[in-house]
Amino acid sequence: MNKFRILIVEDDPPIRNLIATTLKTHDYKYLLAKNGEEAIMQASTYNPDVVFLDLGLPDIDGVDIIKKIREWSVMPIIVISARSEDEDKIEALDAGADDYLTKPFSVEELLARLRVMQRRIALLQSDNEMMESSVYVNGWLKIDLAAGCAYKNDEELKLTPIEYKLLCILARNTGKVLTHKYITQKIWGSAWDSNVASLRVFMATLRKKLDDEKETVSLIQTHVGIGYRMIKAESSKEST
Ligand code: CA
Repeated sequence: MNKFRILIVEDDPPIRNLIATTLKTHDYKYLLAKNGEEAIMQASTYNPDVVFLDLGLPDIDGVDIIKKIREWSVMPIIVISARSEDEDKIEALDAGADDYLTKPFSVEELLARLRVMQRRIALLQSDNEMMESSVYVNGWLKIDLAAGCAYKNDEELKLTPIEYKLLCILARNTGKVLTHKYITQKIWGSAWDSNVASLRVFMATLRKKLDDEKETVSLIQTHVGIGYRMIKAESSKEST
């Protein structure tokens, strides 16, 4: 039995039912909300582990719901939006959402996103330990935060200061989709278009150093038009 409790916020009954049925089939517990008011009420009363949040709700804007929840909780939020709502998606991620699903989505996709969030929760729980030990380990990647060095399979990576900073920002937010705006603000303190162009260049050089032909799976995912995400390397011990 899965102990996870998930809040589904969706005003469209067929989609709400699809998500509910999928979760039920996979032994997740869930709560339902058909509008923003119910969403905030359920989130604050039951403190769910993950929220699936439709951005287009009849009463309250989805982004405002995220801001509201973020006032008291870091619970992972996965936004659900139509393909035409890219701007809303970016706004939602900047407001503190962790991930997104684009309609129409498959059941497999939904479950995969949920697994990413489960790993993210495990990471958040071990976050304090990580900060104390100052060493970040993700599969073959190791970052010695105290020394300011990164290693690939124990071989030191020759990173420029900006590449290193970029890697640390992604690592600290493993599992979360970070927007271009978020990353550029962290690196340069501003989010001009020229910064976003520079970010693409630094990301390309960073990836070249991280991913060689020996690695089949890249740790950094590109979300076209949105940003990047560091994924948790699959370990053989993990049962997903
Ligand atoms: Ca809707």
